Order: sequence, then structure tokens, then C-alpha cells
Amino acid sequence: MRKPLIAGNWKMNLLRDSSVALIHQLLDKSKASDKVEVAVCPPSVYLHDVGAALRGSHIALGAQNMYHTDEGAYTGEVSGKMLKDIGCRYVILGHSERRQLMGETDTQVNQKVHAALKVGLVPIVCVGETLDQREAGQTTTVVRTQCEGSLAGLTSEQAAGIVLAYEPVWAIGTGKTASPAQAEEVHADIRALLTKMFGADTAQKVRIQYGGSVKADNAKELLSQPNIDGALVGGASLKADSFLPIIDAAG
Ligand code: PEP
Repeated sequence: MRKPLIAGNWKMNLLRDSSVALIHQLLDKSKASDKVEVAVCPPSVYLHDVGAALRGSHIALGAQNMYHTDEGAYTGEVSGKMLKDIGCRYVILGHSERRQLMGETDTQVNQKVHAALKVGLVPIVCVGETLDQREAGQTTTVVRTQCEGSLAGLTSEQAAGIVLAYEPVWAIGTGKTASPAQAEEVHADIRALLTKMFGADTAQKVRIQYGGSVKADNAKELLSQPNIDGALVGGASLKADSFLPIIDAAG
């Protein structure tokens, strides 16, 4: 049985005091459960403070990006080794904002996935099509190409431990959500691809989150789909009142 993962992607939002205050609210109003795993991914400058507020709790710490080598002359970058050192369990890789705004390619995402696994981080690998691609009937091809490129060279054992996030770009931050049927269709296709790449046992172990305007009122139906194993949540993860009901919907 796959345990759903609800992860909050704070993006470039919240300052230190509001970040720590949000953690206190989440910890006050939620408790550990065998049915759902929870993580928050603050900006890297606040990983330390958020990690300290989370220490010993049921909520895991994640980062939003990393560089693919452990150390060296890479001004402005942060390595997986550093993220691990500061207490991260997860790292989001290949988010569509990074693919679109910073030009990240599948090859770069793949290097990061290998580097994350090497230091014991769990990568949350994001894939998803744009509106134009969906309307042109290219969703399956785009998502399959991203998965194949981003996961190239992994062993089945490594693949079993990663998390994928299907995030249709047209649904991110727009208030438009894929319908549960639209999302499930892509999730099932990703699982079929994983079966082809890594075998059925491995494919059944990989958690595939949905992301894109997940809110309290649509979470339950999305999360009840057979191949949807949690959510990557942007906007609604910035307030306890909107994030907690999504966690409850998974539990
Ligand atoms: C995201 O950026 O990963 C995301 C899903 O954002 P939102 O929930 O705001 O659409």
C-alpha cells in the first residue's frame, strides 16, 4: 500500500517569522498518522529555522531545488549534501516554474535526481504539460518524455523510492484543477510507463502526487483516485486553514 504524501511547496513566499508561525499552527492542529505523510518545502534560506521548528515532529522538511554536484565553484547554488546536512528528507526537482523560467531540461533534472539519491534525499520529480500541449493532444507524449528523461539510468530499487508529481502547468496557481478523471488518466499512464521502465513491482511502489490548484474542496475526490498518492500543494499550503483540510482529506 502506498502512503500518500502531502507536500507544501511554499515557493518564494513567507518570511522567517511567518514561516515558523505556520509550522507552529500546523503542529498544534495535526498529529502523526499512519495514513498520510506530510512535508513542507520552504525557500532554502529558511530551511534551518523551519527545520528547527519541525524537529522531532511528524512533518518532514523538503527543499525546492538543488545543484547536482556535492560542492565546488557554483556561486549561488546549494548541493544535495547540504540539504541532507540541514535535515531535509525531500527535494522538489524539475518543477514547471524551474523548467519554464530557468530553462531546466530533463537532462539537468536527471543529474539532480541521481545526485539527490546518492546523498539519501527523496526526490519529488515534477512533470506536466502546458495548455497548448494538452489542446494539441500531446499530454501523454510530453509527460512520458519528461519521465523517461528525468528518471533515465535509475535502478528499479532507486526508482521505487522516488516520488513523482504530475502537475499540469495550466492548473498551477490558476485555480483551474484537472478533473479527477483527467488526473487519474495521466497518473495511470505514468504508472504504465514505470512498469515498462522498472517492472510492475517497482511501479506499484512509486508514489505519484497530483499538483495544480489542490484545495480543501477538491482534495478528497482527487486523492480517492487509485493512482493518485498525495498532493503537491502550492498556494493552499501557505496557510494552516487551507493546508490542514488537504492533509485530512488524505488521512
Ligand atoms: C505547485 O506549484 O507545485 C502547485 C501545485 O501550486 P498551486 O497549488 O498553487 O497550483
